[in-house]
Amino acid sequence: MIPIKHKIIFALTLILVCLHSQPSWAWGFYGHKFINRHAIFLLPPEMIVWYKKNIDYITNHAVDPDKRRNMLAYEGPRHYLDIDHYGKYPYPNLPRRWSDAVQKYTQDTLQAHGIVPWWIQVMQQKLTQAFKDKDAAKILKISADIGHYIADAHVPLHASSNHNGQLTGQQGIHGFWESSIPELLAEKEWDFFIGPAEYIKNPLDFTWKRLLESAIAADTVLSVEKALSLKVPTDQQYSFKKRNGKAVKQYSTYYTILYNKALQGMVERRMQQSIYAVACFWYTAWVNAGQPNLSLLSPLTTSNVSNNPSDSLDVMQDAWQQTKLAQRVHEEDEK
Ligand SMILES: [Zn+2]
Repeated sequence: MIPIKHKIIFALTLILVCLHSQPSWAWGFYGHKFINRHAIFLLPPEMIVWYKKNIDYITNHAVDPDKRRNMLAYEGPRHYLDIDHYGKYPYPNLPRRWSDAVQKYTQDTLQAHGIVPWWIQVMQQKLTQAFKDKDAAKILKISADIGHYIADAHVPLHASSNHNGQLTGQQGIHGFWESSIPELLAEKEWDFFIGPAEYIKNPLDFTWKRLLESAIAADTVLSVEKALSLKVPTDQQYSFKKRNGKAVKQYSTYYTILYNKALQGMVERRMQQSIYAVACFWYTAWVNAGQPNLSLLSPLTTSNVSNNPSDSLDVMQDAWQQTKLAQRVHEEDEK
């Protein structure tokens, strides 16, 4: 029998290993919820009424895929593509279709460097099927999930192996770009009047286009911060915030505003494009399913939203709490 204490230490170690190997969470919880919520308002009248009724679910579950990363090994690669592993922009060596890419590189290699464009395609097919089956619970769950992956594909550092600036001495830049900036400015200063959702003829091509934009922007995200960090004195780059009774170092408001300005609206633009893309993918799946009448869908109960135990909110909530606990233990260890 393994003593319970050892089991707990083992579990915490596992979580810490996960945290270290993939420390970045695209858009942060704030951004993902914001994107899914705002996408609803771009939908046509035949869809918006039903989606609005379920706006809390679509918003709150925008972060489920990140919660799953703590407990399912196969989840991580669905959020990114280290595209620079495959050569130089525009990466002609990497086939855009999954079957061609598997043939050239093997599935193991692709999984090792991220699969986000192909996973969005899988989710799109599942969402189309859910609309065809008129399965309200599945439509909701997959809509929330695919919104997350599409938004991830818009984050430049999700298309780069230097995803948290770890190769260039810029650790923390991932959260700086995708969490600190939107949390400070999205509601106060940015514009989210975006045109209505449109039908996407080829969702895979669309995803690749956005992902290549992310890949090319990743260099800017890193180089602009590097240049700024050399100009601004270090004591003005950071501030300390009280969390759980302790002072935690973070980027200062002053430095966050400077960085956003230097990026010339990039974060706002990528957020707008994410919102538009999410709405377009939902709309396209609905059209491809024959435009089912959503007002005839059976009412939802919390119990029929998910039958898969690994997807249940309780399980995910537990894993999330454990991660936070482990993170705290880790932070204390580092002091
Ligand atoms: Zn993610």
